[in-house]
Amino acid sequence: MSSHASNSPPIAIIGAGPSGLTLARLLEVKNIPYIVFDRDVSPDAARGGGSLDLGPGSGQMALSEAGLFDKFKPLARYQDQAFRILDKQADLVWAKPNEESDDRPEIDRKALRRMLLESIPQERVKWDARVKSLKREADSSMAVQLANGNVETGFKLVVGADGGWSKARDMITPVKPRYTGLCYLQGNIHTTNEFHSTVCSRVGPGAYMALGDGNNLYVQRQGNGSYQIFAGGRFPEGWWRTNQERFRSLQFREQLIADRYSDWSSQITDLIRYSDGFDYVWALYETPSESVPWEHVPGVTLVGDAAHLTGPNGEGVNIALYDSLQLAQEIEQAGVGNLDDAVRKYEKKMFPRALEHIAAGEEGVRMFFAEDAAENFKNNAGAIFESGEV
Ligand SMILES: Cc1cc2nc3c(=O)[nH]c(=O)nc-3n(C[C@H](O)[C@H](O)[C@H](O)COP(=O)(O)OP(=O)(O)OC[C@H]3O[C@@H](n4cnc5c(N)ncnc54)[C@H](O)[C@@H]3O)c2cc1C
Repeated sequence: MSSHASNSPPIAIIGAGPSGLTLARLLEVKNIPYIVFDRDVSPDAARGGGSLDLGPGSGQMALSEAGLFDKFKPLARYQDQAFRILDKQADLVWAKPNEESDDRPEIDRKALRRMLLESIPQERVKWDARVKSLKREADSSMAVQLANGNVETGFKLVVGADGGWSKARDMITPVKPRYTGLCYLQGNIHTTNEFHSTVCSRVGPGAYMALGDGNNLYVQRQGNGSYQIFAGGRFPEGWWRTNQERFRSLQFREQLIADRYSDWSSQITDLIRYSDGFDYVWALYETPSESVPWEHVPGVTLVGDAAHLTGPNGEGVNIALYDSLQLAQEIEQAGVGNLDDAVRKYEKKMFPRALEHIAAGEEGVRMFFAEDAAENFKNNAGAIFESGEV
């Protein structure tokens, strides 16, 4: 085990996901030193998750402030903003066509990560650096303990941008994320798949979601023209941990269809059957509303999913980027000598947003997985989308 303290920058960021790298870039342009730790062995490590839509007043605003909007625009898919909702018979329930005025373009998760990484010096990110815990030193600085036994010391502030299972959160609250009872099985229909051209005509640009009986199927075009499919429904906690290879098999897909989609139109179930199989499970957890506001803890704070993990409500990444924007602004204003003031101001502004986001996540889960979800959207979609609940 070794310990490194000399020349530690004042700020450590745990997590090179959307929120951590956005914060890193914002600190970079403000000339504030930092270091990022991520558990992934490399920037291209396989990870679930497809396309993300960035909103103008949040995600896009953070990228603009980071001086990255010109790099974002060519990667952003303005042509993929159409969204349709179908019932289990594949009848259209609600549709939002792609309109020129739409301003929530999609970007692939990997493309976003790459763009952010290219905007900061490589040596600012330590890969294969899984954080185990944080510790306060006798001089009240913070130490980061890595799973490989190394300890990095001497930080004035550690920012947990390490997602739903944040290790930094353990310093702040004993409250753990709770399982919603729901999972998305994520799979692909690659451009090389014989069925791909049928999917292009069935789904087209953007995304569609078929809903019914407490299950759903979300299908979304990606930047390279392939499609990702997400089959969502109720599963017992932990069922995904055993024998994950089976998710890729045709037998598993047939069983899933038989168990959950047996009376659904083949227009929908074909997308599962002829896909290239499932390769990732998103178990949906959420931080309960009692996790915020937390009592301020000097030397540590949280952004993004680490601060407020929710079920899908279409805003997770946007709020994550906005948290980083707000924290970077407060740090710049207060100065590195007053990081505690900056964090207190950031947290005060973030808490109400986190609570709203958690409530919207609970509502999203309720709506998309309700037995009568399609019926509900048929009758109320206009009001639901205008209210910003999803
Ligand atoms: C199925 C699904 C679909 C979604 N679709 C959308 C969408 O369309 N729009 C949207 O806005 N949001 C969406 N979200 C939510 C969105 O993905 C998250 O809100 C967003 O990724 C949060 O970013 P983050 O940087 O805070 O956390 P993460 O994206 O979770 O990044 C955390 C980073 O920390 C690293 N890390 C974790 N633990 C450690 C550790 N111990 N040590 C070191 N590093 C660590 C990870 O490797 C990762 O790089 C979706 C989520 C799911 C589950």
